Amino acid sequence: MSLDDDRYEVFLPHHTASKHRIMAITGFPGHPQLLALATVSNATAARRLADALNSHLLGRRNHVERLDESLIGLPESVVATVRQLPIKPAQGTHLGRARLADHLHGDPIDGILMFPTTSCASSECVTCGNCVDDCQDCEICEEGACVDCVRPDLTPRTARVLAAAGSILADQYFDHAEELNAGHPCTFGEIVPAIMRKQPVEFFRRMARIFDDLTDDLQDGVEPRPLDMSEQIALDLMIQEAEVLFEDPDVIDSFVQGLPETRYDYDFNSLYDALFEDMDHIGLLSSKNGPNAPGELEFLFEPFYDGEQRDPNRGFRR
Ligand SMILES: [Zn+2]
Ligand SMILES: [Zn+2]
Repeated sequence: MSLDDDRYEVFLPHHTASKHRIMAITGFPGHPQLLALATVSNATAARRLADALNSHLLGRRNHVERLDESLIGLPESVVATVRQLPIKPAQGTHLGRARLADHLHGDPIDGILMFPTTSCASSECVTCGNCVDDCQDCEICEEGACVDCVRPDLTPRTARVLAAAGSILADQYFDHAEELNAGHPCTFGEIVPAIMRKQPVEFFRRMARIFDDLTDDLQDGVEPRPLDMSEQIALDLMIQEAEVLFEDPDVIDSFVQGLPETRYDYDFNSLYDALFEDMDHIGLLSSKNGPNAPGELEFLFEPFYDGEQRDPNRGFRR
């Protein structure tokens, strides 16, 4: 492979009736070219590998693990080809311009697919031995005696629907901020908890960004654990929105296409136990509270733990 790393623009899956390929577009500097890198046996594996290569190229969070996991189970020849690609992970722009991969917003699945699909730690668990049938008939697991086999709360499908809910809410809150900014009456009042209804434009932009942050966590294969009360409220609203989405099977199908199905999917209620530190935000969400005066909700943004907060310079998507 004589290409240097500057030349990869984007990786794409390409499907025909019988084949699923991973293609690369190369070409800066020089003429754009389309190269076939590898062929795999199913559509999801092709899409996952292309997404993971883009994540690697762009230096997204967890990109090393995302690529490693996307290669599990693929033929050795494919693994060898991918490992030889001269990709140097970089952030965003290179040579003063964004790569094509940067402009592709196809909801990557390589992070989402890192969420567990089985309760078994591995096929050979140290405690319960040979995990068969996801330990459904395992006496040791039934007694709760195996600490390695844990029922997954956040499966890929659950994570994907929760991420979809997060994107919807982020856009609604950004829209709401724009309406307020334009001096229009608060048309989105009913989607906003009562305590927030008198807050200024900037407050809603920050809330919108929190929905984006939690959605990014999910897309990057990271459990969305709230770091402050505003995130705890946002995650609760996302779970509620996911439950609403779940009532329309057609909508759900469009989101989870290609993701593995598990017996643990869509147990949104279990996420309160799995992801929340406590349920102290519930009182704030009760309609009897508020609306608070502008600026009175700053305490929502105080980190639960010192030093645990998101990059203050991460900017806003909109
Ligand atoms: Zn077991
Ligand atoms: Zn076990």
